[in-house]
Amino acid sequence: MTTTPRPTADNSNGATSQSDVAKVRLYKIRTGQVFDPIERVMFARQVIWVDRDTGVVVRLGEEGETFRSEFEVEVTDVDLTKLTVLPGFVDVHVHLFLHPYAETSWDDQLTKESLAGRTIRATVHAKKTLLAGFTTVRRVWLDDEAELRGDLARL
Ligand SMILES: [Zn+2]
Repeated sequence: MTTTPRPTADNSNGATSQSDVAKVRLYKIRTGQVFDPIERVMFARQVIWVDRDTGVVVRLGEEGETFRSEFEVEVTDVDLTKLTVLPGFVDVHVHLFLHPYAETSWDDQLTKESLAGRTIRATVHAKKTLLAGFTTVRRVWLDDEAELRGDLARL
């Protein structure tokens, strides 16, 4: 059985206990501002705490807050104070393996192009999609969705 660290934040110096039993590795991302898509507002000078091992945002707080945990915390600072941070976008309809039909018809792409070539193209498309801010996509039409999800997670 594992125990999930319970993060808290306060305005003290963030001292940790000597009896820590696990280590939590966090990114402390200091931002210029963060966009909240629910409230549709920008919040200035926010700090995003991200678990380095899981990629999960564990806390969004004010500049000056420290992260406290019952576990030992290793913090890696990331300075994005000159930037605006947005949540990851979601595209629910992508075709990573296809390219424009003006270049090659759909039939020819599927019947004449090699799987290796199509896979290379899909990898490039996936990287461009990620770099454009889309952290979640739903590929349509193909059956190996779960396999690709695992492959992308390892990139
Ligand atoms: Zn489509």
